[in-house]
Amino acid sequence: SKQSVYEPLTENTAISLALRLGLFPEGTPLTCREIGDGNLNLVFHVVDQTKNKGVIIKQALPYAKVVGESWPLTLKRATIESNALRTFSSYVPEYVPKVYYSDESLAITVMEDLSHLQIARKGLIEGKTYPLLSQHIGQFLAKTLFYTSDFGLNQQQKKQLAQSFVNPELCKITEDLVFTDPFFDHDTNNFEEELRDDVETLWNNSSLKLETAKLKRKFLTEGDALLHGDLHTGSIFASDEETKIIDPEFAFYGPLGFDLGQFLANLLLNALSRNEEEREPLFAHVEKTWEVFQQTFSELWENQNVETYAKVPGFLQEVLDRTFTDAIGFAGCEIIRRTIGLAHVADLDGIKDKEERLNAKRHALRLGKTLILKRESINKIQEIRQLFTQTT
Ligand code: ADP
Ligand code: MG
Ligand code: MG
Ligand code: MG
Repeated sequence: SKQSVYEPLTENTAISLALRLGLFPEGTPLTCREIGDGNLNLVFHVVDQTKNKGVIIKQALPYAKVVGESWPLTLKRATIESNALRTFSSYVPEYVPKVYYSDESLAITVMEDLSHLQIARKGLIEGKTYPLLSQHIGQFLAKTLFYTSDFGLNQQQKKQLAQSFVNPELCKITEDLVFTDPFFDHDTNNFEEELRDDVETLWNNSSLKLETAKLKRKFLTEGDALLHGDLHTGSIFASDEETKIIDPEFAFYGPLGFDLGQFLANLLLNALSRNEEEREPLFAHVEKTWEVFQQTFSELWENQNVETYAKVPGFLQEVLDRTFTDAIGFAGCEIIRRTIGLAHVADLDGIKDKEERLNAKRHALRLGKTLILKRESINKIQEIRQLFTQTT
């Protein structure tokens, strides 16, 4: 195949590319809009006006779009994203967009158009509940984590796969923005001045820092399975029937509990933005995510495990307990960083009334801190809703 030279696409060259790739018959009247609302990349929506069929062309820029050229960022993330989508698709095709084409030098992924669905964060903010969301995410996580781990792959295959997902630059963003900066007076932090006392109290909490250091170390060193790496509700398209996970450019081999923790945190961040009487569906999703994950992972463990130690009594329970505890700690870090760190969530920032918004953010800080500090003594997922209420 011919070697392409990197160049950022425009709406016009994206159309030419779609035609050149044979994604539409020659002469099809196409329109294109750049619809990327994310922080890092370009996303082109190419649509056939006559049949209203579309494709998505996502392209990485050699820098982070949100900041500009002063924040260079590897183009390799596009290849990581394409490969992660293809790997996930081999286990759970129902939960990811189809990848039609990818080009490493152009840093593009051409994929299925999911415009008939809605980004879950937006829908949740509008009050939608997505009844199947937690069942689907629980299954997605159980299957992708199990099948890419040493329990689902032989040792050589796993090491090979892990090698192709070494992703140091994107991991560094998480190490800094999730695990480090929010816990210190770093200039990436971003919070309303009224929260300064609360934030300084957090910065001065040395037991919180010790626990967060342990969680960061896990993220740095444990290579259990292929993670999505950025599984917040903005990386999920949903409807009442379907769930599709997008945007795995942060994918890498990491600890089993990390994606679970980020997803649970984003459910809780949405719950924090709601009135008390509208929170139930979020708590139900938190519980169901874990229950479905645990059930599905356990079945795979019993039936498909390639590890000699799989049948040793207590080993599955040990893996599940460790994953649960870590997920709760990671969730606490995510809640705190989405409240006072660089990248916020619209769930909290979108609360119009200032006092209500500040109260929700203070509640978020107390909940995040409690999850991190108490994680080892939380035994049941149902305890999360109690801690949510106790930290009100
Ligand atoms: P980033 O890495 O910059 O965050 P995302 O992959 O999250 O990029 O995509 C940004 C936005 O582009 C999404 O929120 C969504 O609105 C749109 N988008 C991305 N992928 C698709 C798709 N397959 N179908 C339809 N819209 C998409
Ligand atoms: Mg995104
Ligand atoms: Mg987005
Ligand atoms: Mg992204």
